[in-house]
Amino acid sequence: MQAQRAQGTEDLYGSYMRSWQRMVSEAEQLFSDWGFDMIETPAMEQVSTFVHGIGESTDVVRKEMFRVYSGALLEGIFERGSEEHLKPRQRLALRPEGTAGIVRSAVENTFVPQGGAPVKLWYAMPMFRGERPQKGRLRQFHQVGLEWLGASDPAADAECIIVLMEYFQRLGFAPEQLRLTINSMGDATCRPAYREQVRAFILDHADEMCDDCIERAELNPLRAFDCKSEHCREVMQAAPRVTQALCDECAAHYAQVKTYLDAAGVAYEEDETLVRGLDYYTRTVFEVEVVGSSVGAIGGGGRYDGLVELEGGKPTPGLGFAVGFERIALALEELGVSLAGDEPSCAYVACADPSLREAVFSLVLELRRAGVRTECDYQARSLKSQLKQADKLGATVCLVLGPDEVAAGSVTLRDMGTHEQRLVARGDVVGQVASSFTSA
Ligand code: AMP
Repeated sequence: MQAQRAQGTEDLYGSYMRSWQRMVSEAEQLFSDWGFDMIETPAMEQVSTFVHGIGESTDVVRKEMFRVYSGALLEGIFERGSEEHLKPRQRLALRPEGTAGIVRSAVENTFVPQGGAPVKLWYAMPMFRGERPQKGRLRQFHQVGLEWLGASDPAADAECIIVLMEYFQRLGFAPEQLRLTINSMGDATCRPAYREQVRAFILDHADEMCDDCIERAELNPLRAFDCKSEHCREVMQAAPRVTQALCDECAAHYAQVKTYLDAAGVAYEEDETLVRGLDYYTRTVFEVEVVGSSVGAIGGGGRYDGLVELEGGKPTPGLGFAVGFERIALALEELGVSLAGDEPSCAYVACADPSLREAVFSLVLELRRAGVRTECDYQARSLKSQLKQADKLGATVCLVLGPDEVAAGSVTLRDMGTHEQRLVARGDVVGQVASSFTSA
């Protein structure tokens, strides 16, 4: 039987891989200019990192985390019928998102000493969620994101949103193709009372809402705003509004974020039903969709001032966002924008006589060392089929080495576009080809 990839996973190769590489390289340039350094954390973390960080009541933690056990541990679990006997360090999961692990790392490695300067990090990593696979929803997907720890100023919230929108533009979205929605979810001072109001509202409307929402009323009532059932979302339109429930500090913070966004000329819509799926958010939250597209949110984030403490660190404010590569690729494809760009051009060295194989070997090596992507034949093909292969590989130039060329101390340089040929001195050819590649 032919081997198959796991359900909900994708292979990245060819132009799809180039698209991912482009997302990473654009992120590297932009985020570095904004003062962010790259980080990579392990794909596996102790389950407790996600439970503390993301929240026990979230769908991500309750239903979607892939748990990881070695074979020996798994045997023990089967024998005993539970994992109760396992030590915390033996309970591992694949990361469903980047923030909890990065905050764990910041706490463990004391990135943010008390009173120290903020730490600004960005990442490009695969994430794993046991969701039902469908278009734009995978079990292994890729996110680019950033985390900013130690900044409580509303200017940081605004900057985070501004750099996100700038990133989308660099990937090829026009500002009018995107819808940015923002909201404030309050903080530890005002959210508990608001949560209680929403809980009471759901219970008052229990006969109109789905079982999941009734369960959410106790666990995580604000998630009812985000229910998959359209009917529940309609009912929730009449629920108490968060802006009425914000304490003075949260209201002032939110107002200041909007003032900064206005000053930066960033268009946004306020959506009081915007609640993000993870428990750790406080105050500002935001999400970005593509206007008229069915791919869903392509990115989102917000402030998480309590998260560092939840991961065992000193109270430290934080904020960040994550964008999803696969959905961005789908959305740009729908818009007819190429993220991958063209295939890289190459030079091809053709061998017109088997006795010259070593001369070809040396020329290929010199070209590669000069930074030219170079190919040649490794299967003793005829000259005709080598030229065909050069064409297939998209070579822009072909360098032909034959007995006549070697006798004349030169190489035939063939322009694959115009088919024009000329003799170039062997000593000059590498320099000429290299400079035509760097100027292309
Ligand atoms: P979240 O961490 O849920 O806020 O997601 C941030 C972004 O990651 C979303 O806006 C999506 O673009 C992307 N994303 C989240 N879950 C998935 C998934 N299962 N498959 C593909 N992309 C996803």
